[in-house]
Amino acid sequence: MRIVAECLLFAAIATTGCSQQRSTPADFAAQRQRMVEQQLKPRGIKDGRLLAAMTKVPREEFVPVNARADAYQDRPLPIGYEQTISQPYLVAFMTEQLRPQQSDRVLEIGSGSGYQAAILAELVANVYTVEIVEPLAKTAEATLRRLGYTNVHMRVGDGYKGWPEEAPFDAIIVTCAPDKVPQPLIDQLKDGGRMVIPVGERFAQQLYLLEKKNGQLKQSATLPVRFVPMLREEK
Ligand code: SAH
Repeated sequence: MRIVAECLLFAAIATTGCSQQRSTPADFAAQRQRMVEQQLKPRGIKDGRLLAAMTKVPREEFVPVNARADAYQDRPLPIGYEQTISQPYLVAFMTEQLRPQQSDRVLEIGSGSGYQAAILAELVANVYTVEIVEPLAKTAEATLRRLGYTNVHMRVGDGYKGWPEEAPFDAIIVTCAPDKVPQPLIDQLKDGGRMVIPVGERFAQQLYLLEKKNGQLKQSATLPVRFVPMLREEK
């Protein structure tokens, strides 16, 4: 599989170097609690189950070892292959917009580090996640397995096409930006389902919430965002 080369956003974000001392799991838990109190709650994240998931999932396990000290900073971080793990607030905002229910089957496009999938796995029955960069998918899968997530199902491929064999989905979250909403994803959303997706050009995208009701799509713009572009598999 060849990937169409794209010059990617955030590639220029530098890691701020590794800290001299090793943080313990308790140090990370304290940083995680501060992240929830200082970055999520003041910006209006309210869903109790989501806040509990953000307080539980060890984000430091999803970033490269030399970036662990920065895992709870208020920004995206590089994860290799010119890709990033999203800022914690954006993960929380997008997840809240999805209105995840315990029995839901959720599709994610752009597994990246696997962090967003882990947050979803705490909240819903099953997560189906598609990643186009194979080594990222392998690392994410290993991390999720190590942390004991058995309800995340991963596939390497072009997420533009969704995951037709597992459709329909109660919710779909897209964490890379296409220039328009892929029709296969609309088709794979259940009636009553929600989709959160960034759409737009490389430097200016809008995050949208799409809701399917009686076959009609209701679309609302939520936040201006910058995601890495959705790559396409060469046909
Ligand atoms: N949700 C991730 C962050 C994703 S960054 C996390 O929690 O870490 C965006 C990811 O989308 C990158 O890993 C990139 O490789 C992937 N991606 C880009 N185009 C894609 C496509 N067409 N299908 C599936 N994944 C894609």
